[in-house]
Amino acid sequence: MICLLLSAIVLLGSPGAGKGTFAQEYKAKHPEVEHFSIGDWIRKEVKEKTPLGLEILEEMKKESFILNGYLLDEAFVQKIVAEKINEYTKQKKTFILDGFPRTLAQAQFLTRNLTEKTDYIYLTIDRNIAKERMLQRISCSACGRIYNMATLPPKVEGECDYCLMPLVKRDTDQEKVIDERMKGFEEITQKVIQFYMKEGKLFILDGSLPPNEIISLFENL
Ligand SMILES: [Zn+2]
Repeated sequence: MICLLLSAIVLLGSPGAGKGTFAQEYKAKHPEVEHFSIGDWIRKEVKEKTPLGLEILEEMKKESFILNGYLLDEAFVQKIVAEKINEYTKQKKTFILDGFPRTLAQAQFLTRNLTEKTDYIYLTIDRNIAKERMLQRISCSACGRIYNMATLPPKVEGECDYCLMPLVKRDTDQEKVIDERMKGFEEITQKVIQFYMKEGKLFILDGSLPPNEIISLFENL
């Protein structure tokens, strides 16, 4: 078992590649591991209407908006992530970083802030499969747990298995937003993938496999 030696797992992949599901299932298997998702954090800010959340809401009204951190101020996002890394380091916790880095500047920031004991996972997926997945995706309005109408349905329709709260479709899983996010990934985050490829750091795994299979492939690497 290698997980005890890890300090962090950085999850990379296009929208719909299965990063959130991987983190969710990995955490189910290793409850001591923390999961920090930039997307979930942004959704929380928006939902709670914090000053940042309100700013994001304004941006979302713009035609060209790409959600999940592309247009957020670099320094601000890096500060939040640095705070989280410090918190987990102090608690000596292994953590999963999901949805970060998205830009080259963020990747360089991570290199300065994470130890050598970090695994970088790139979940690959066919664009159409990813899109189909996202269109089928629903998540819990309270705990954020992800479900999929086709592949991972809840036990009771419209209700979270864990906290019994209503399941909703995220705004980021609407078709037009999906296309924008895909574009953001291809134009911006691909450079991050190239960066890690060159450094020889990436574990490339097939994101179309069932989550448990991906996790055992990773743990047996
Ligand atoms: Zn729930």
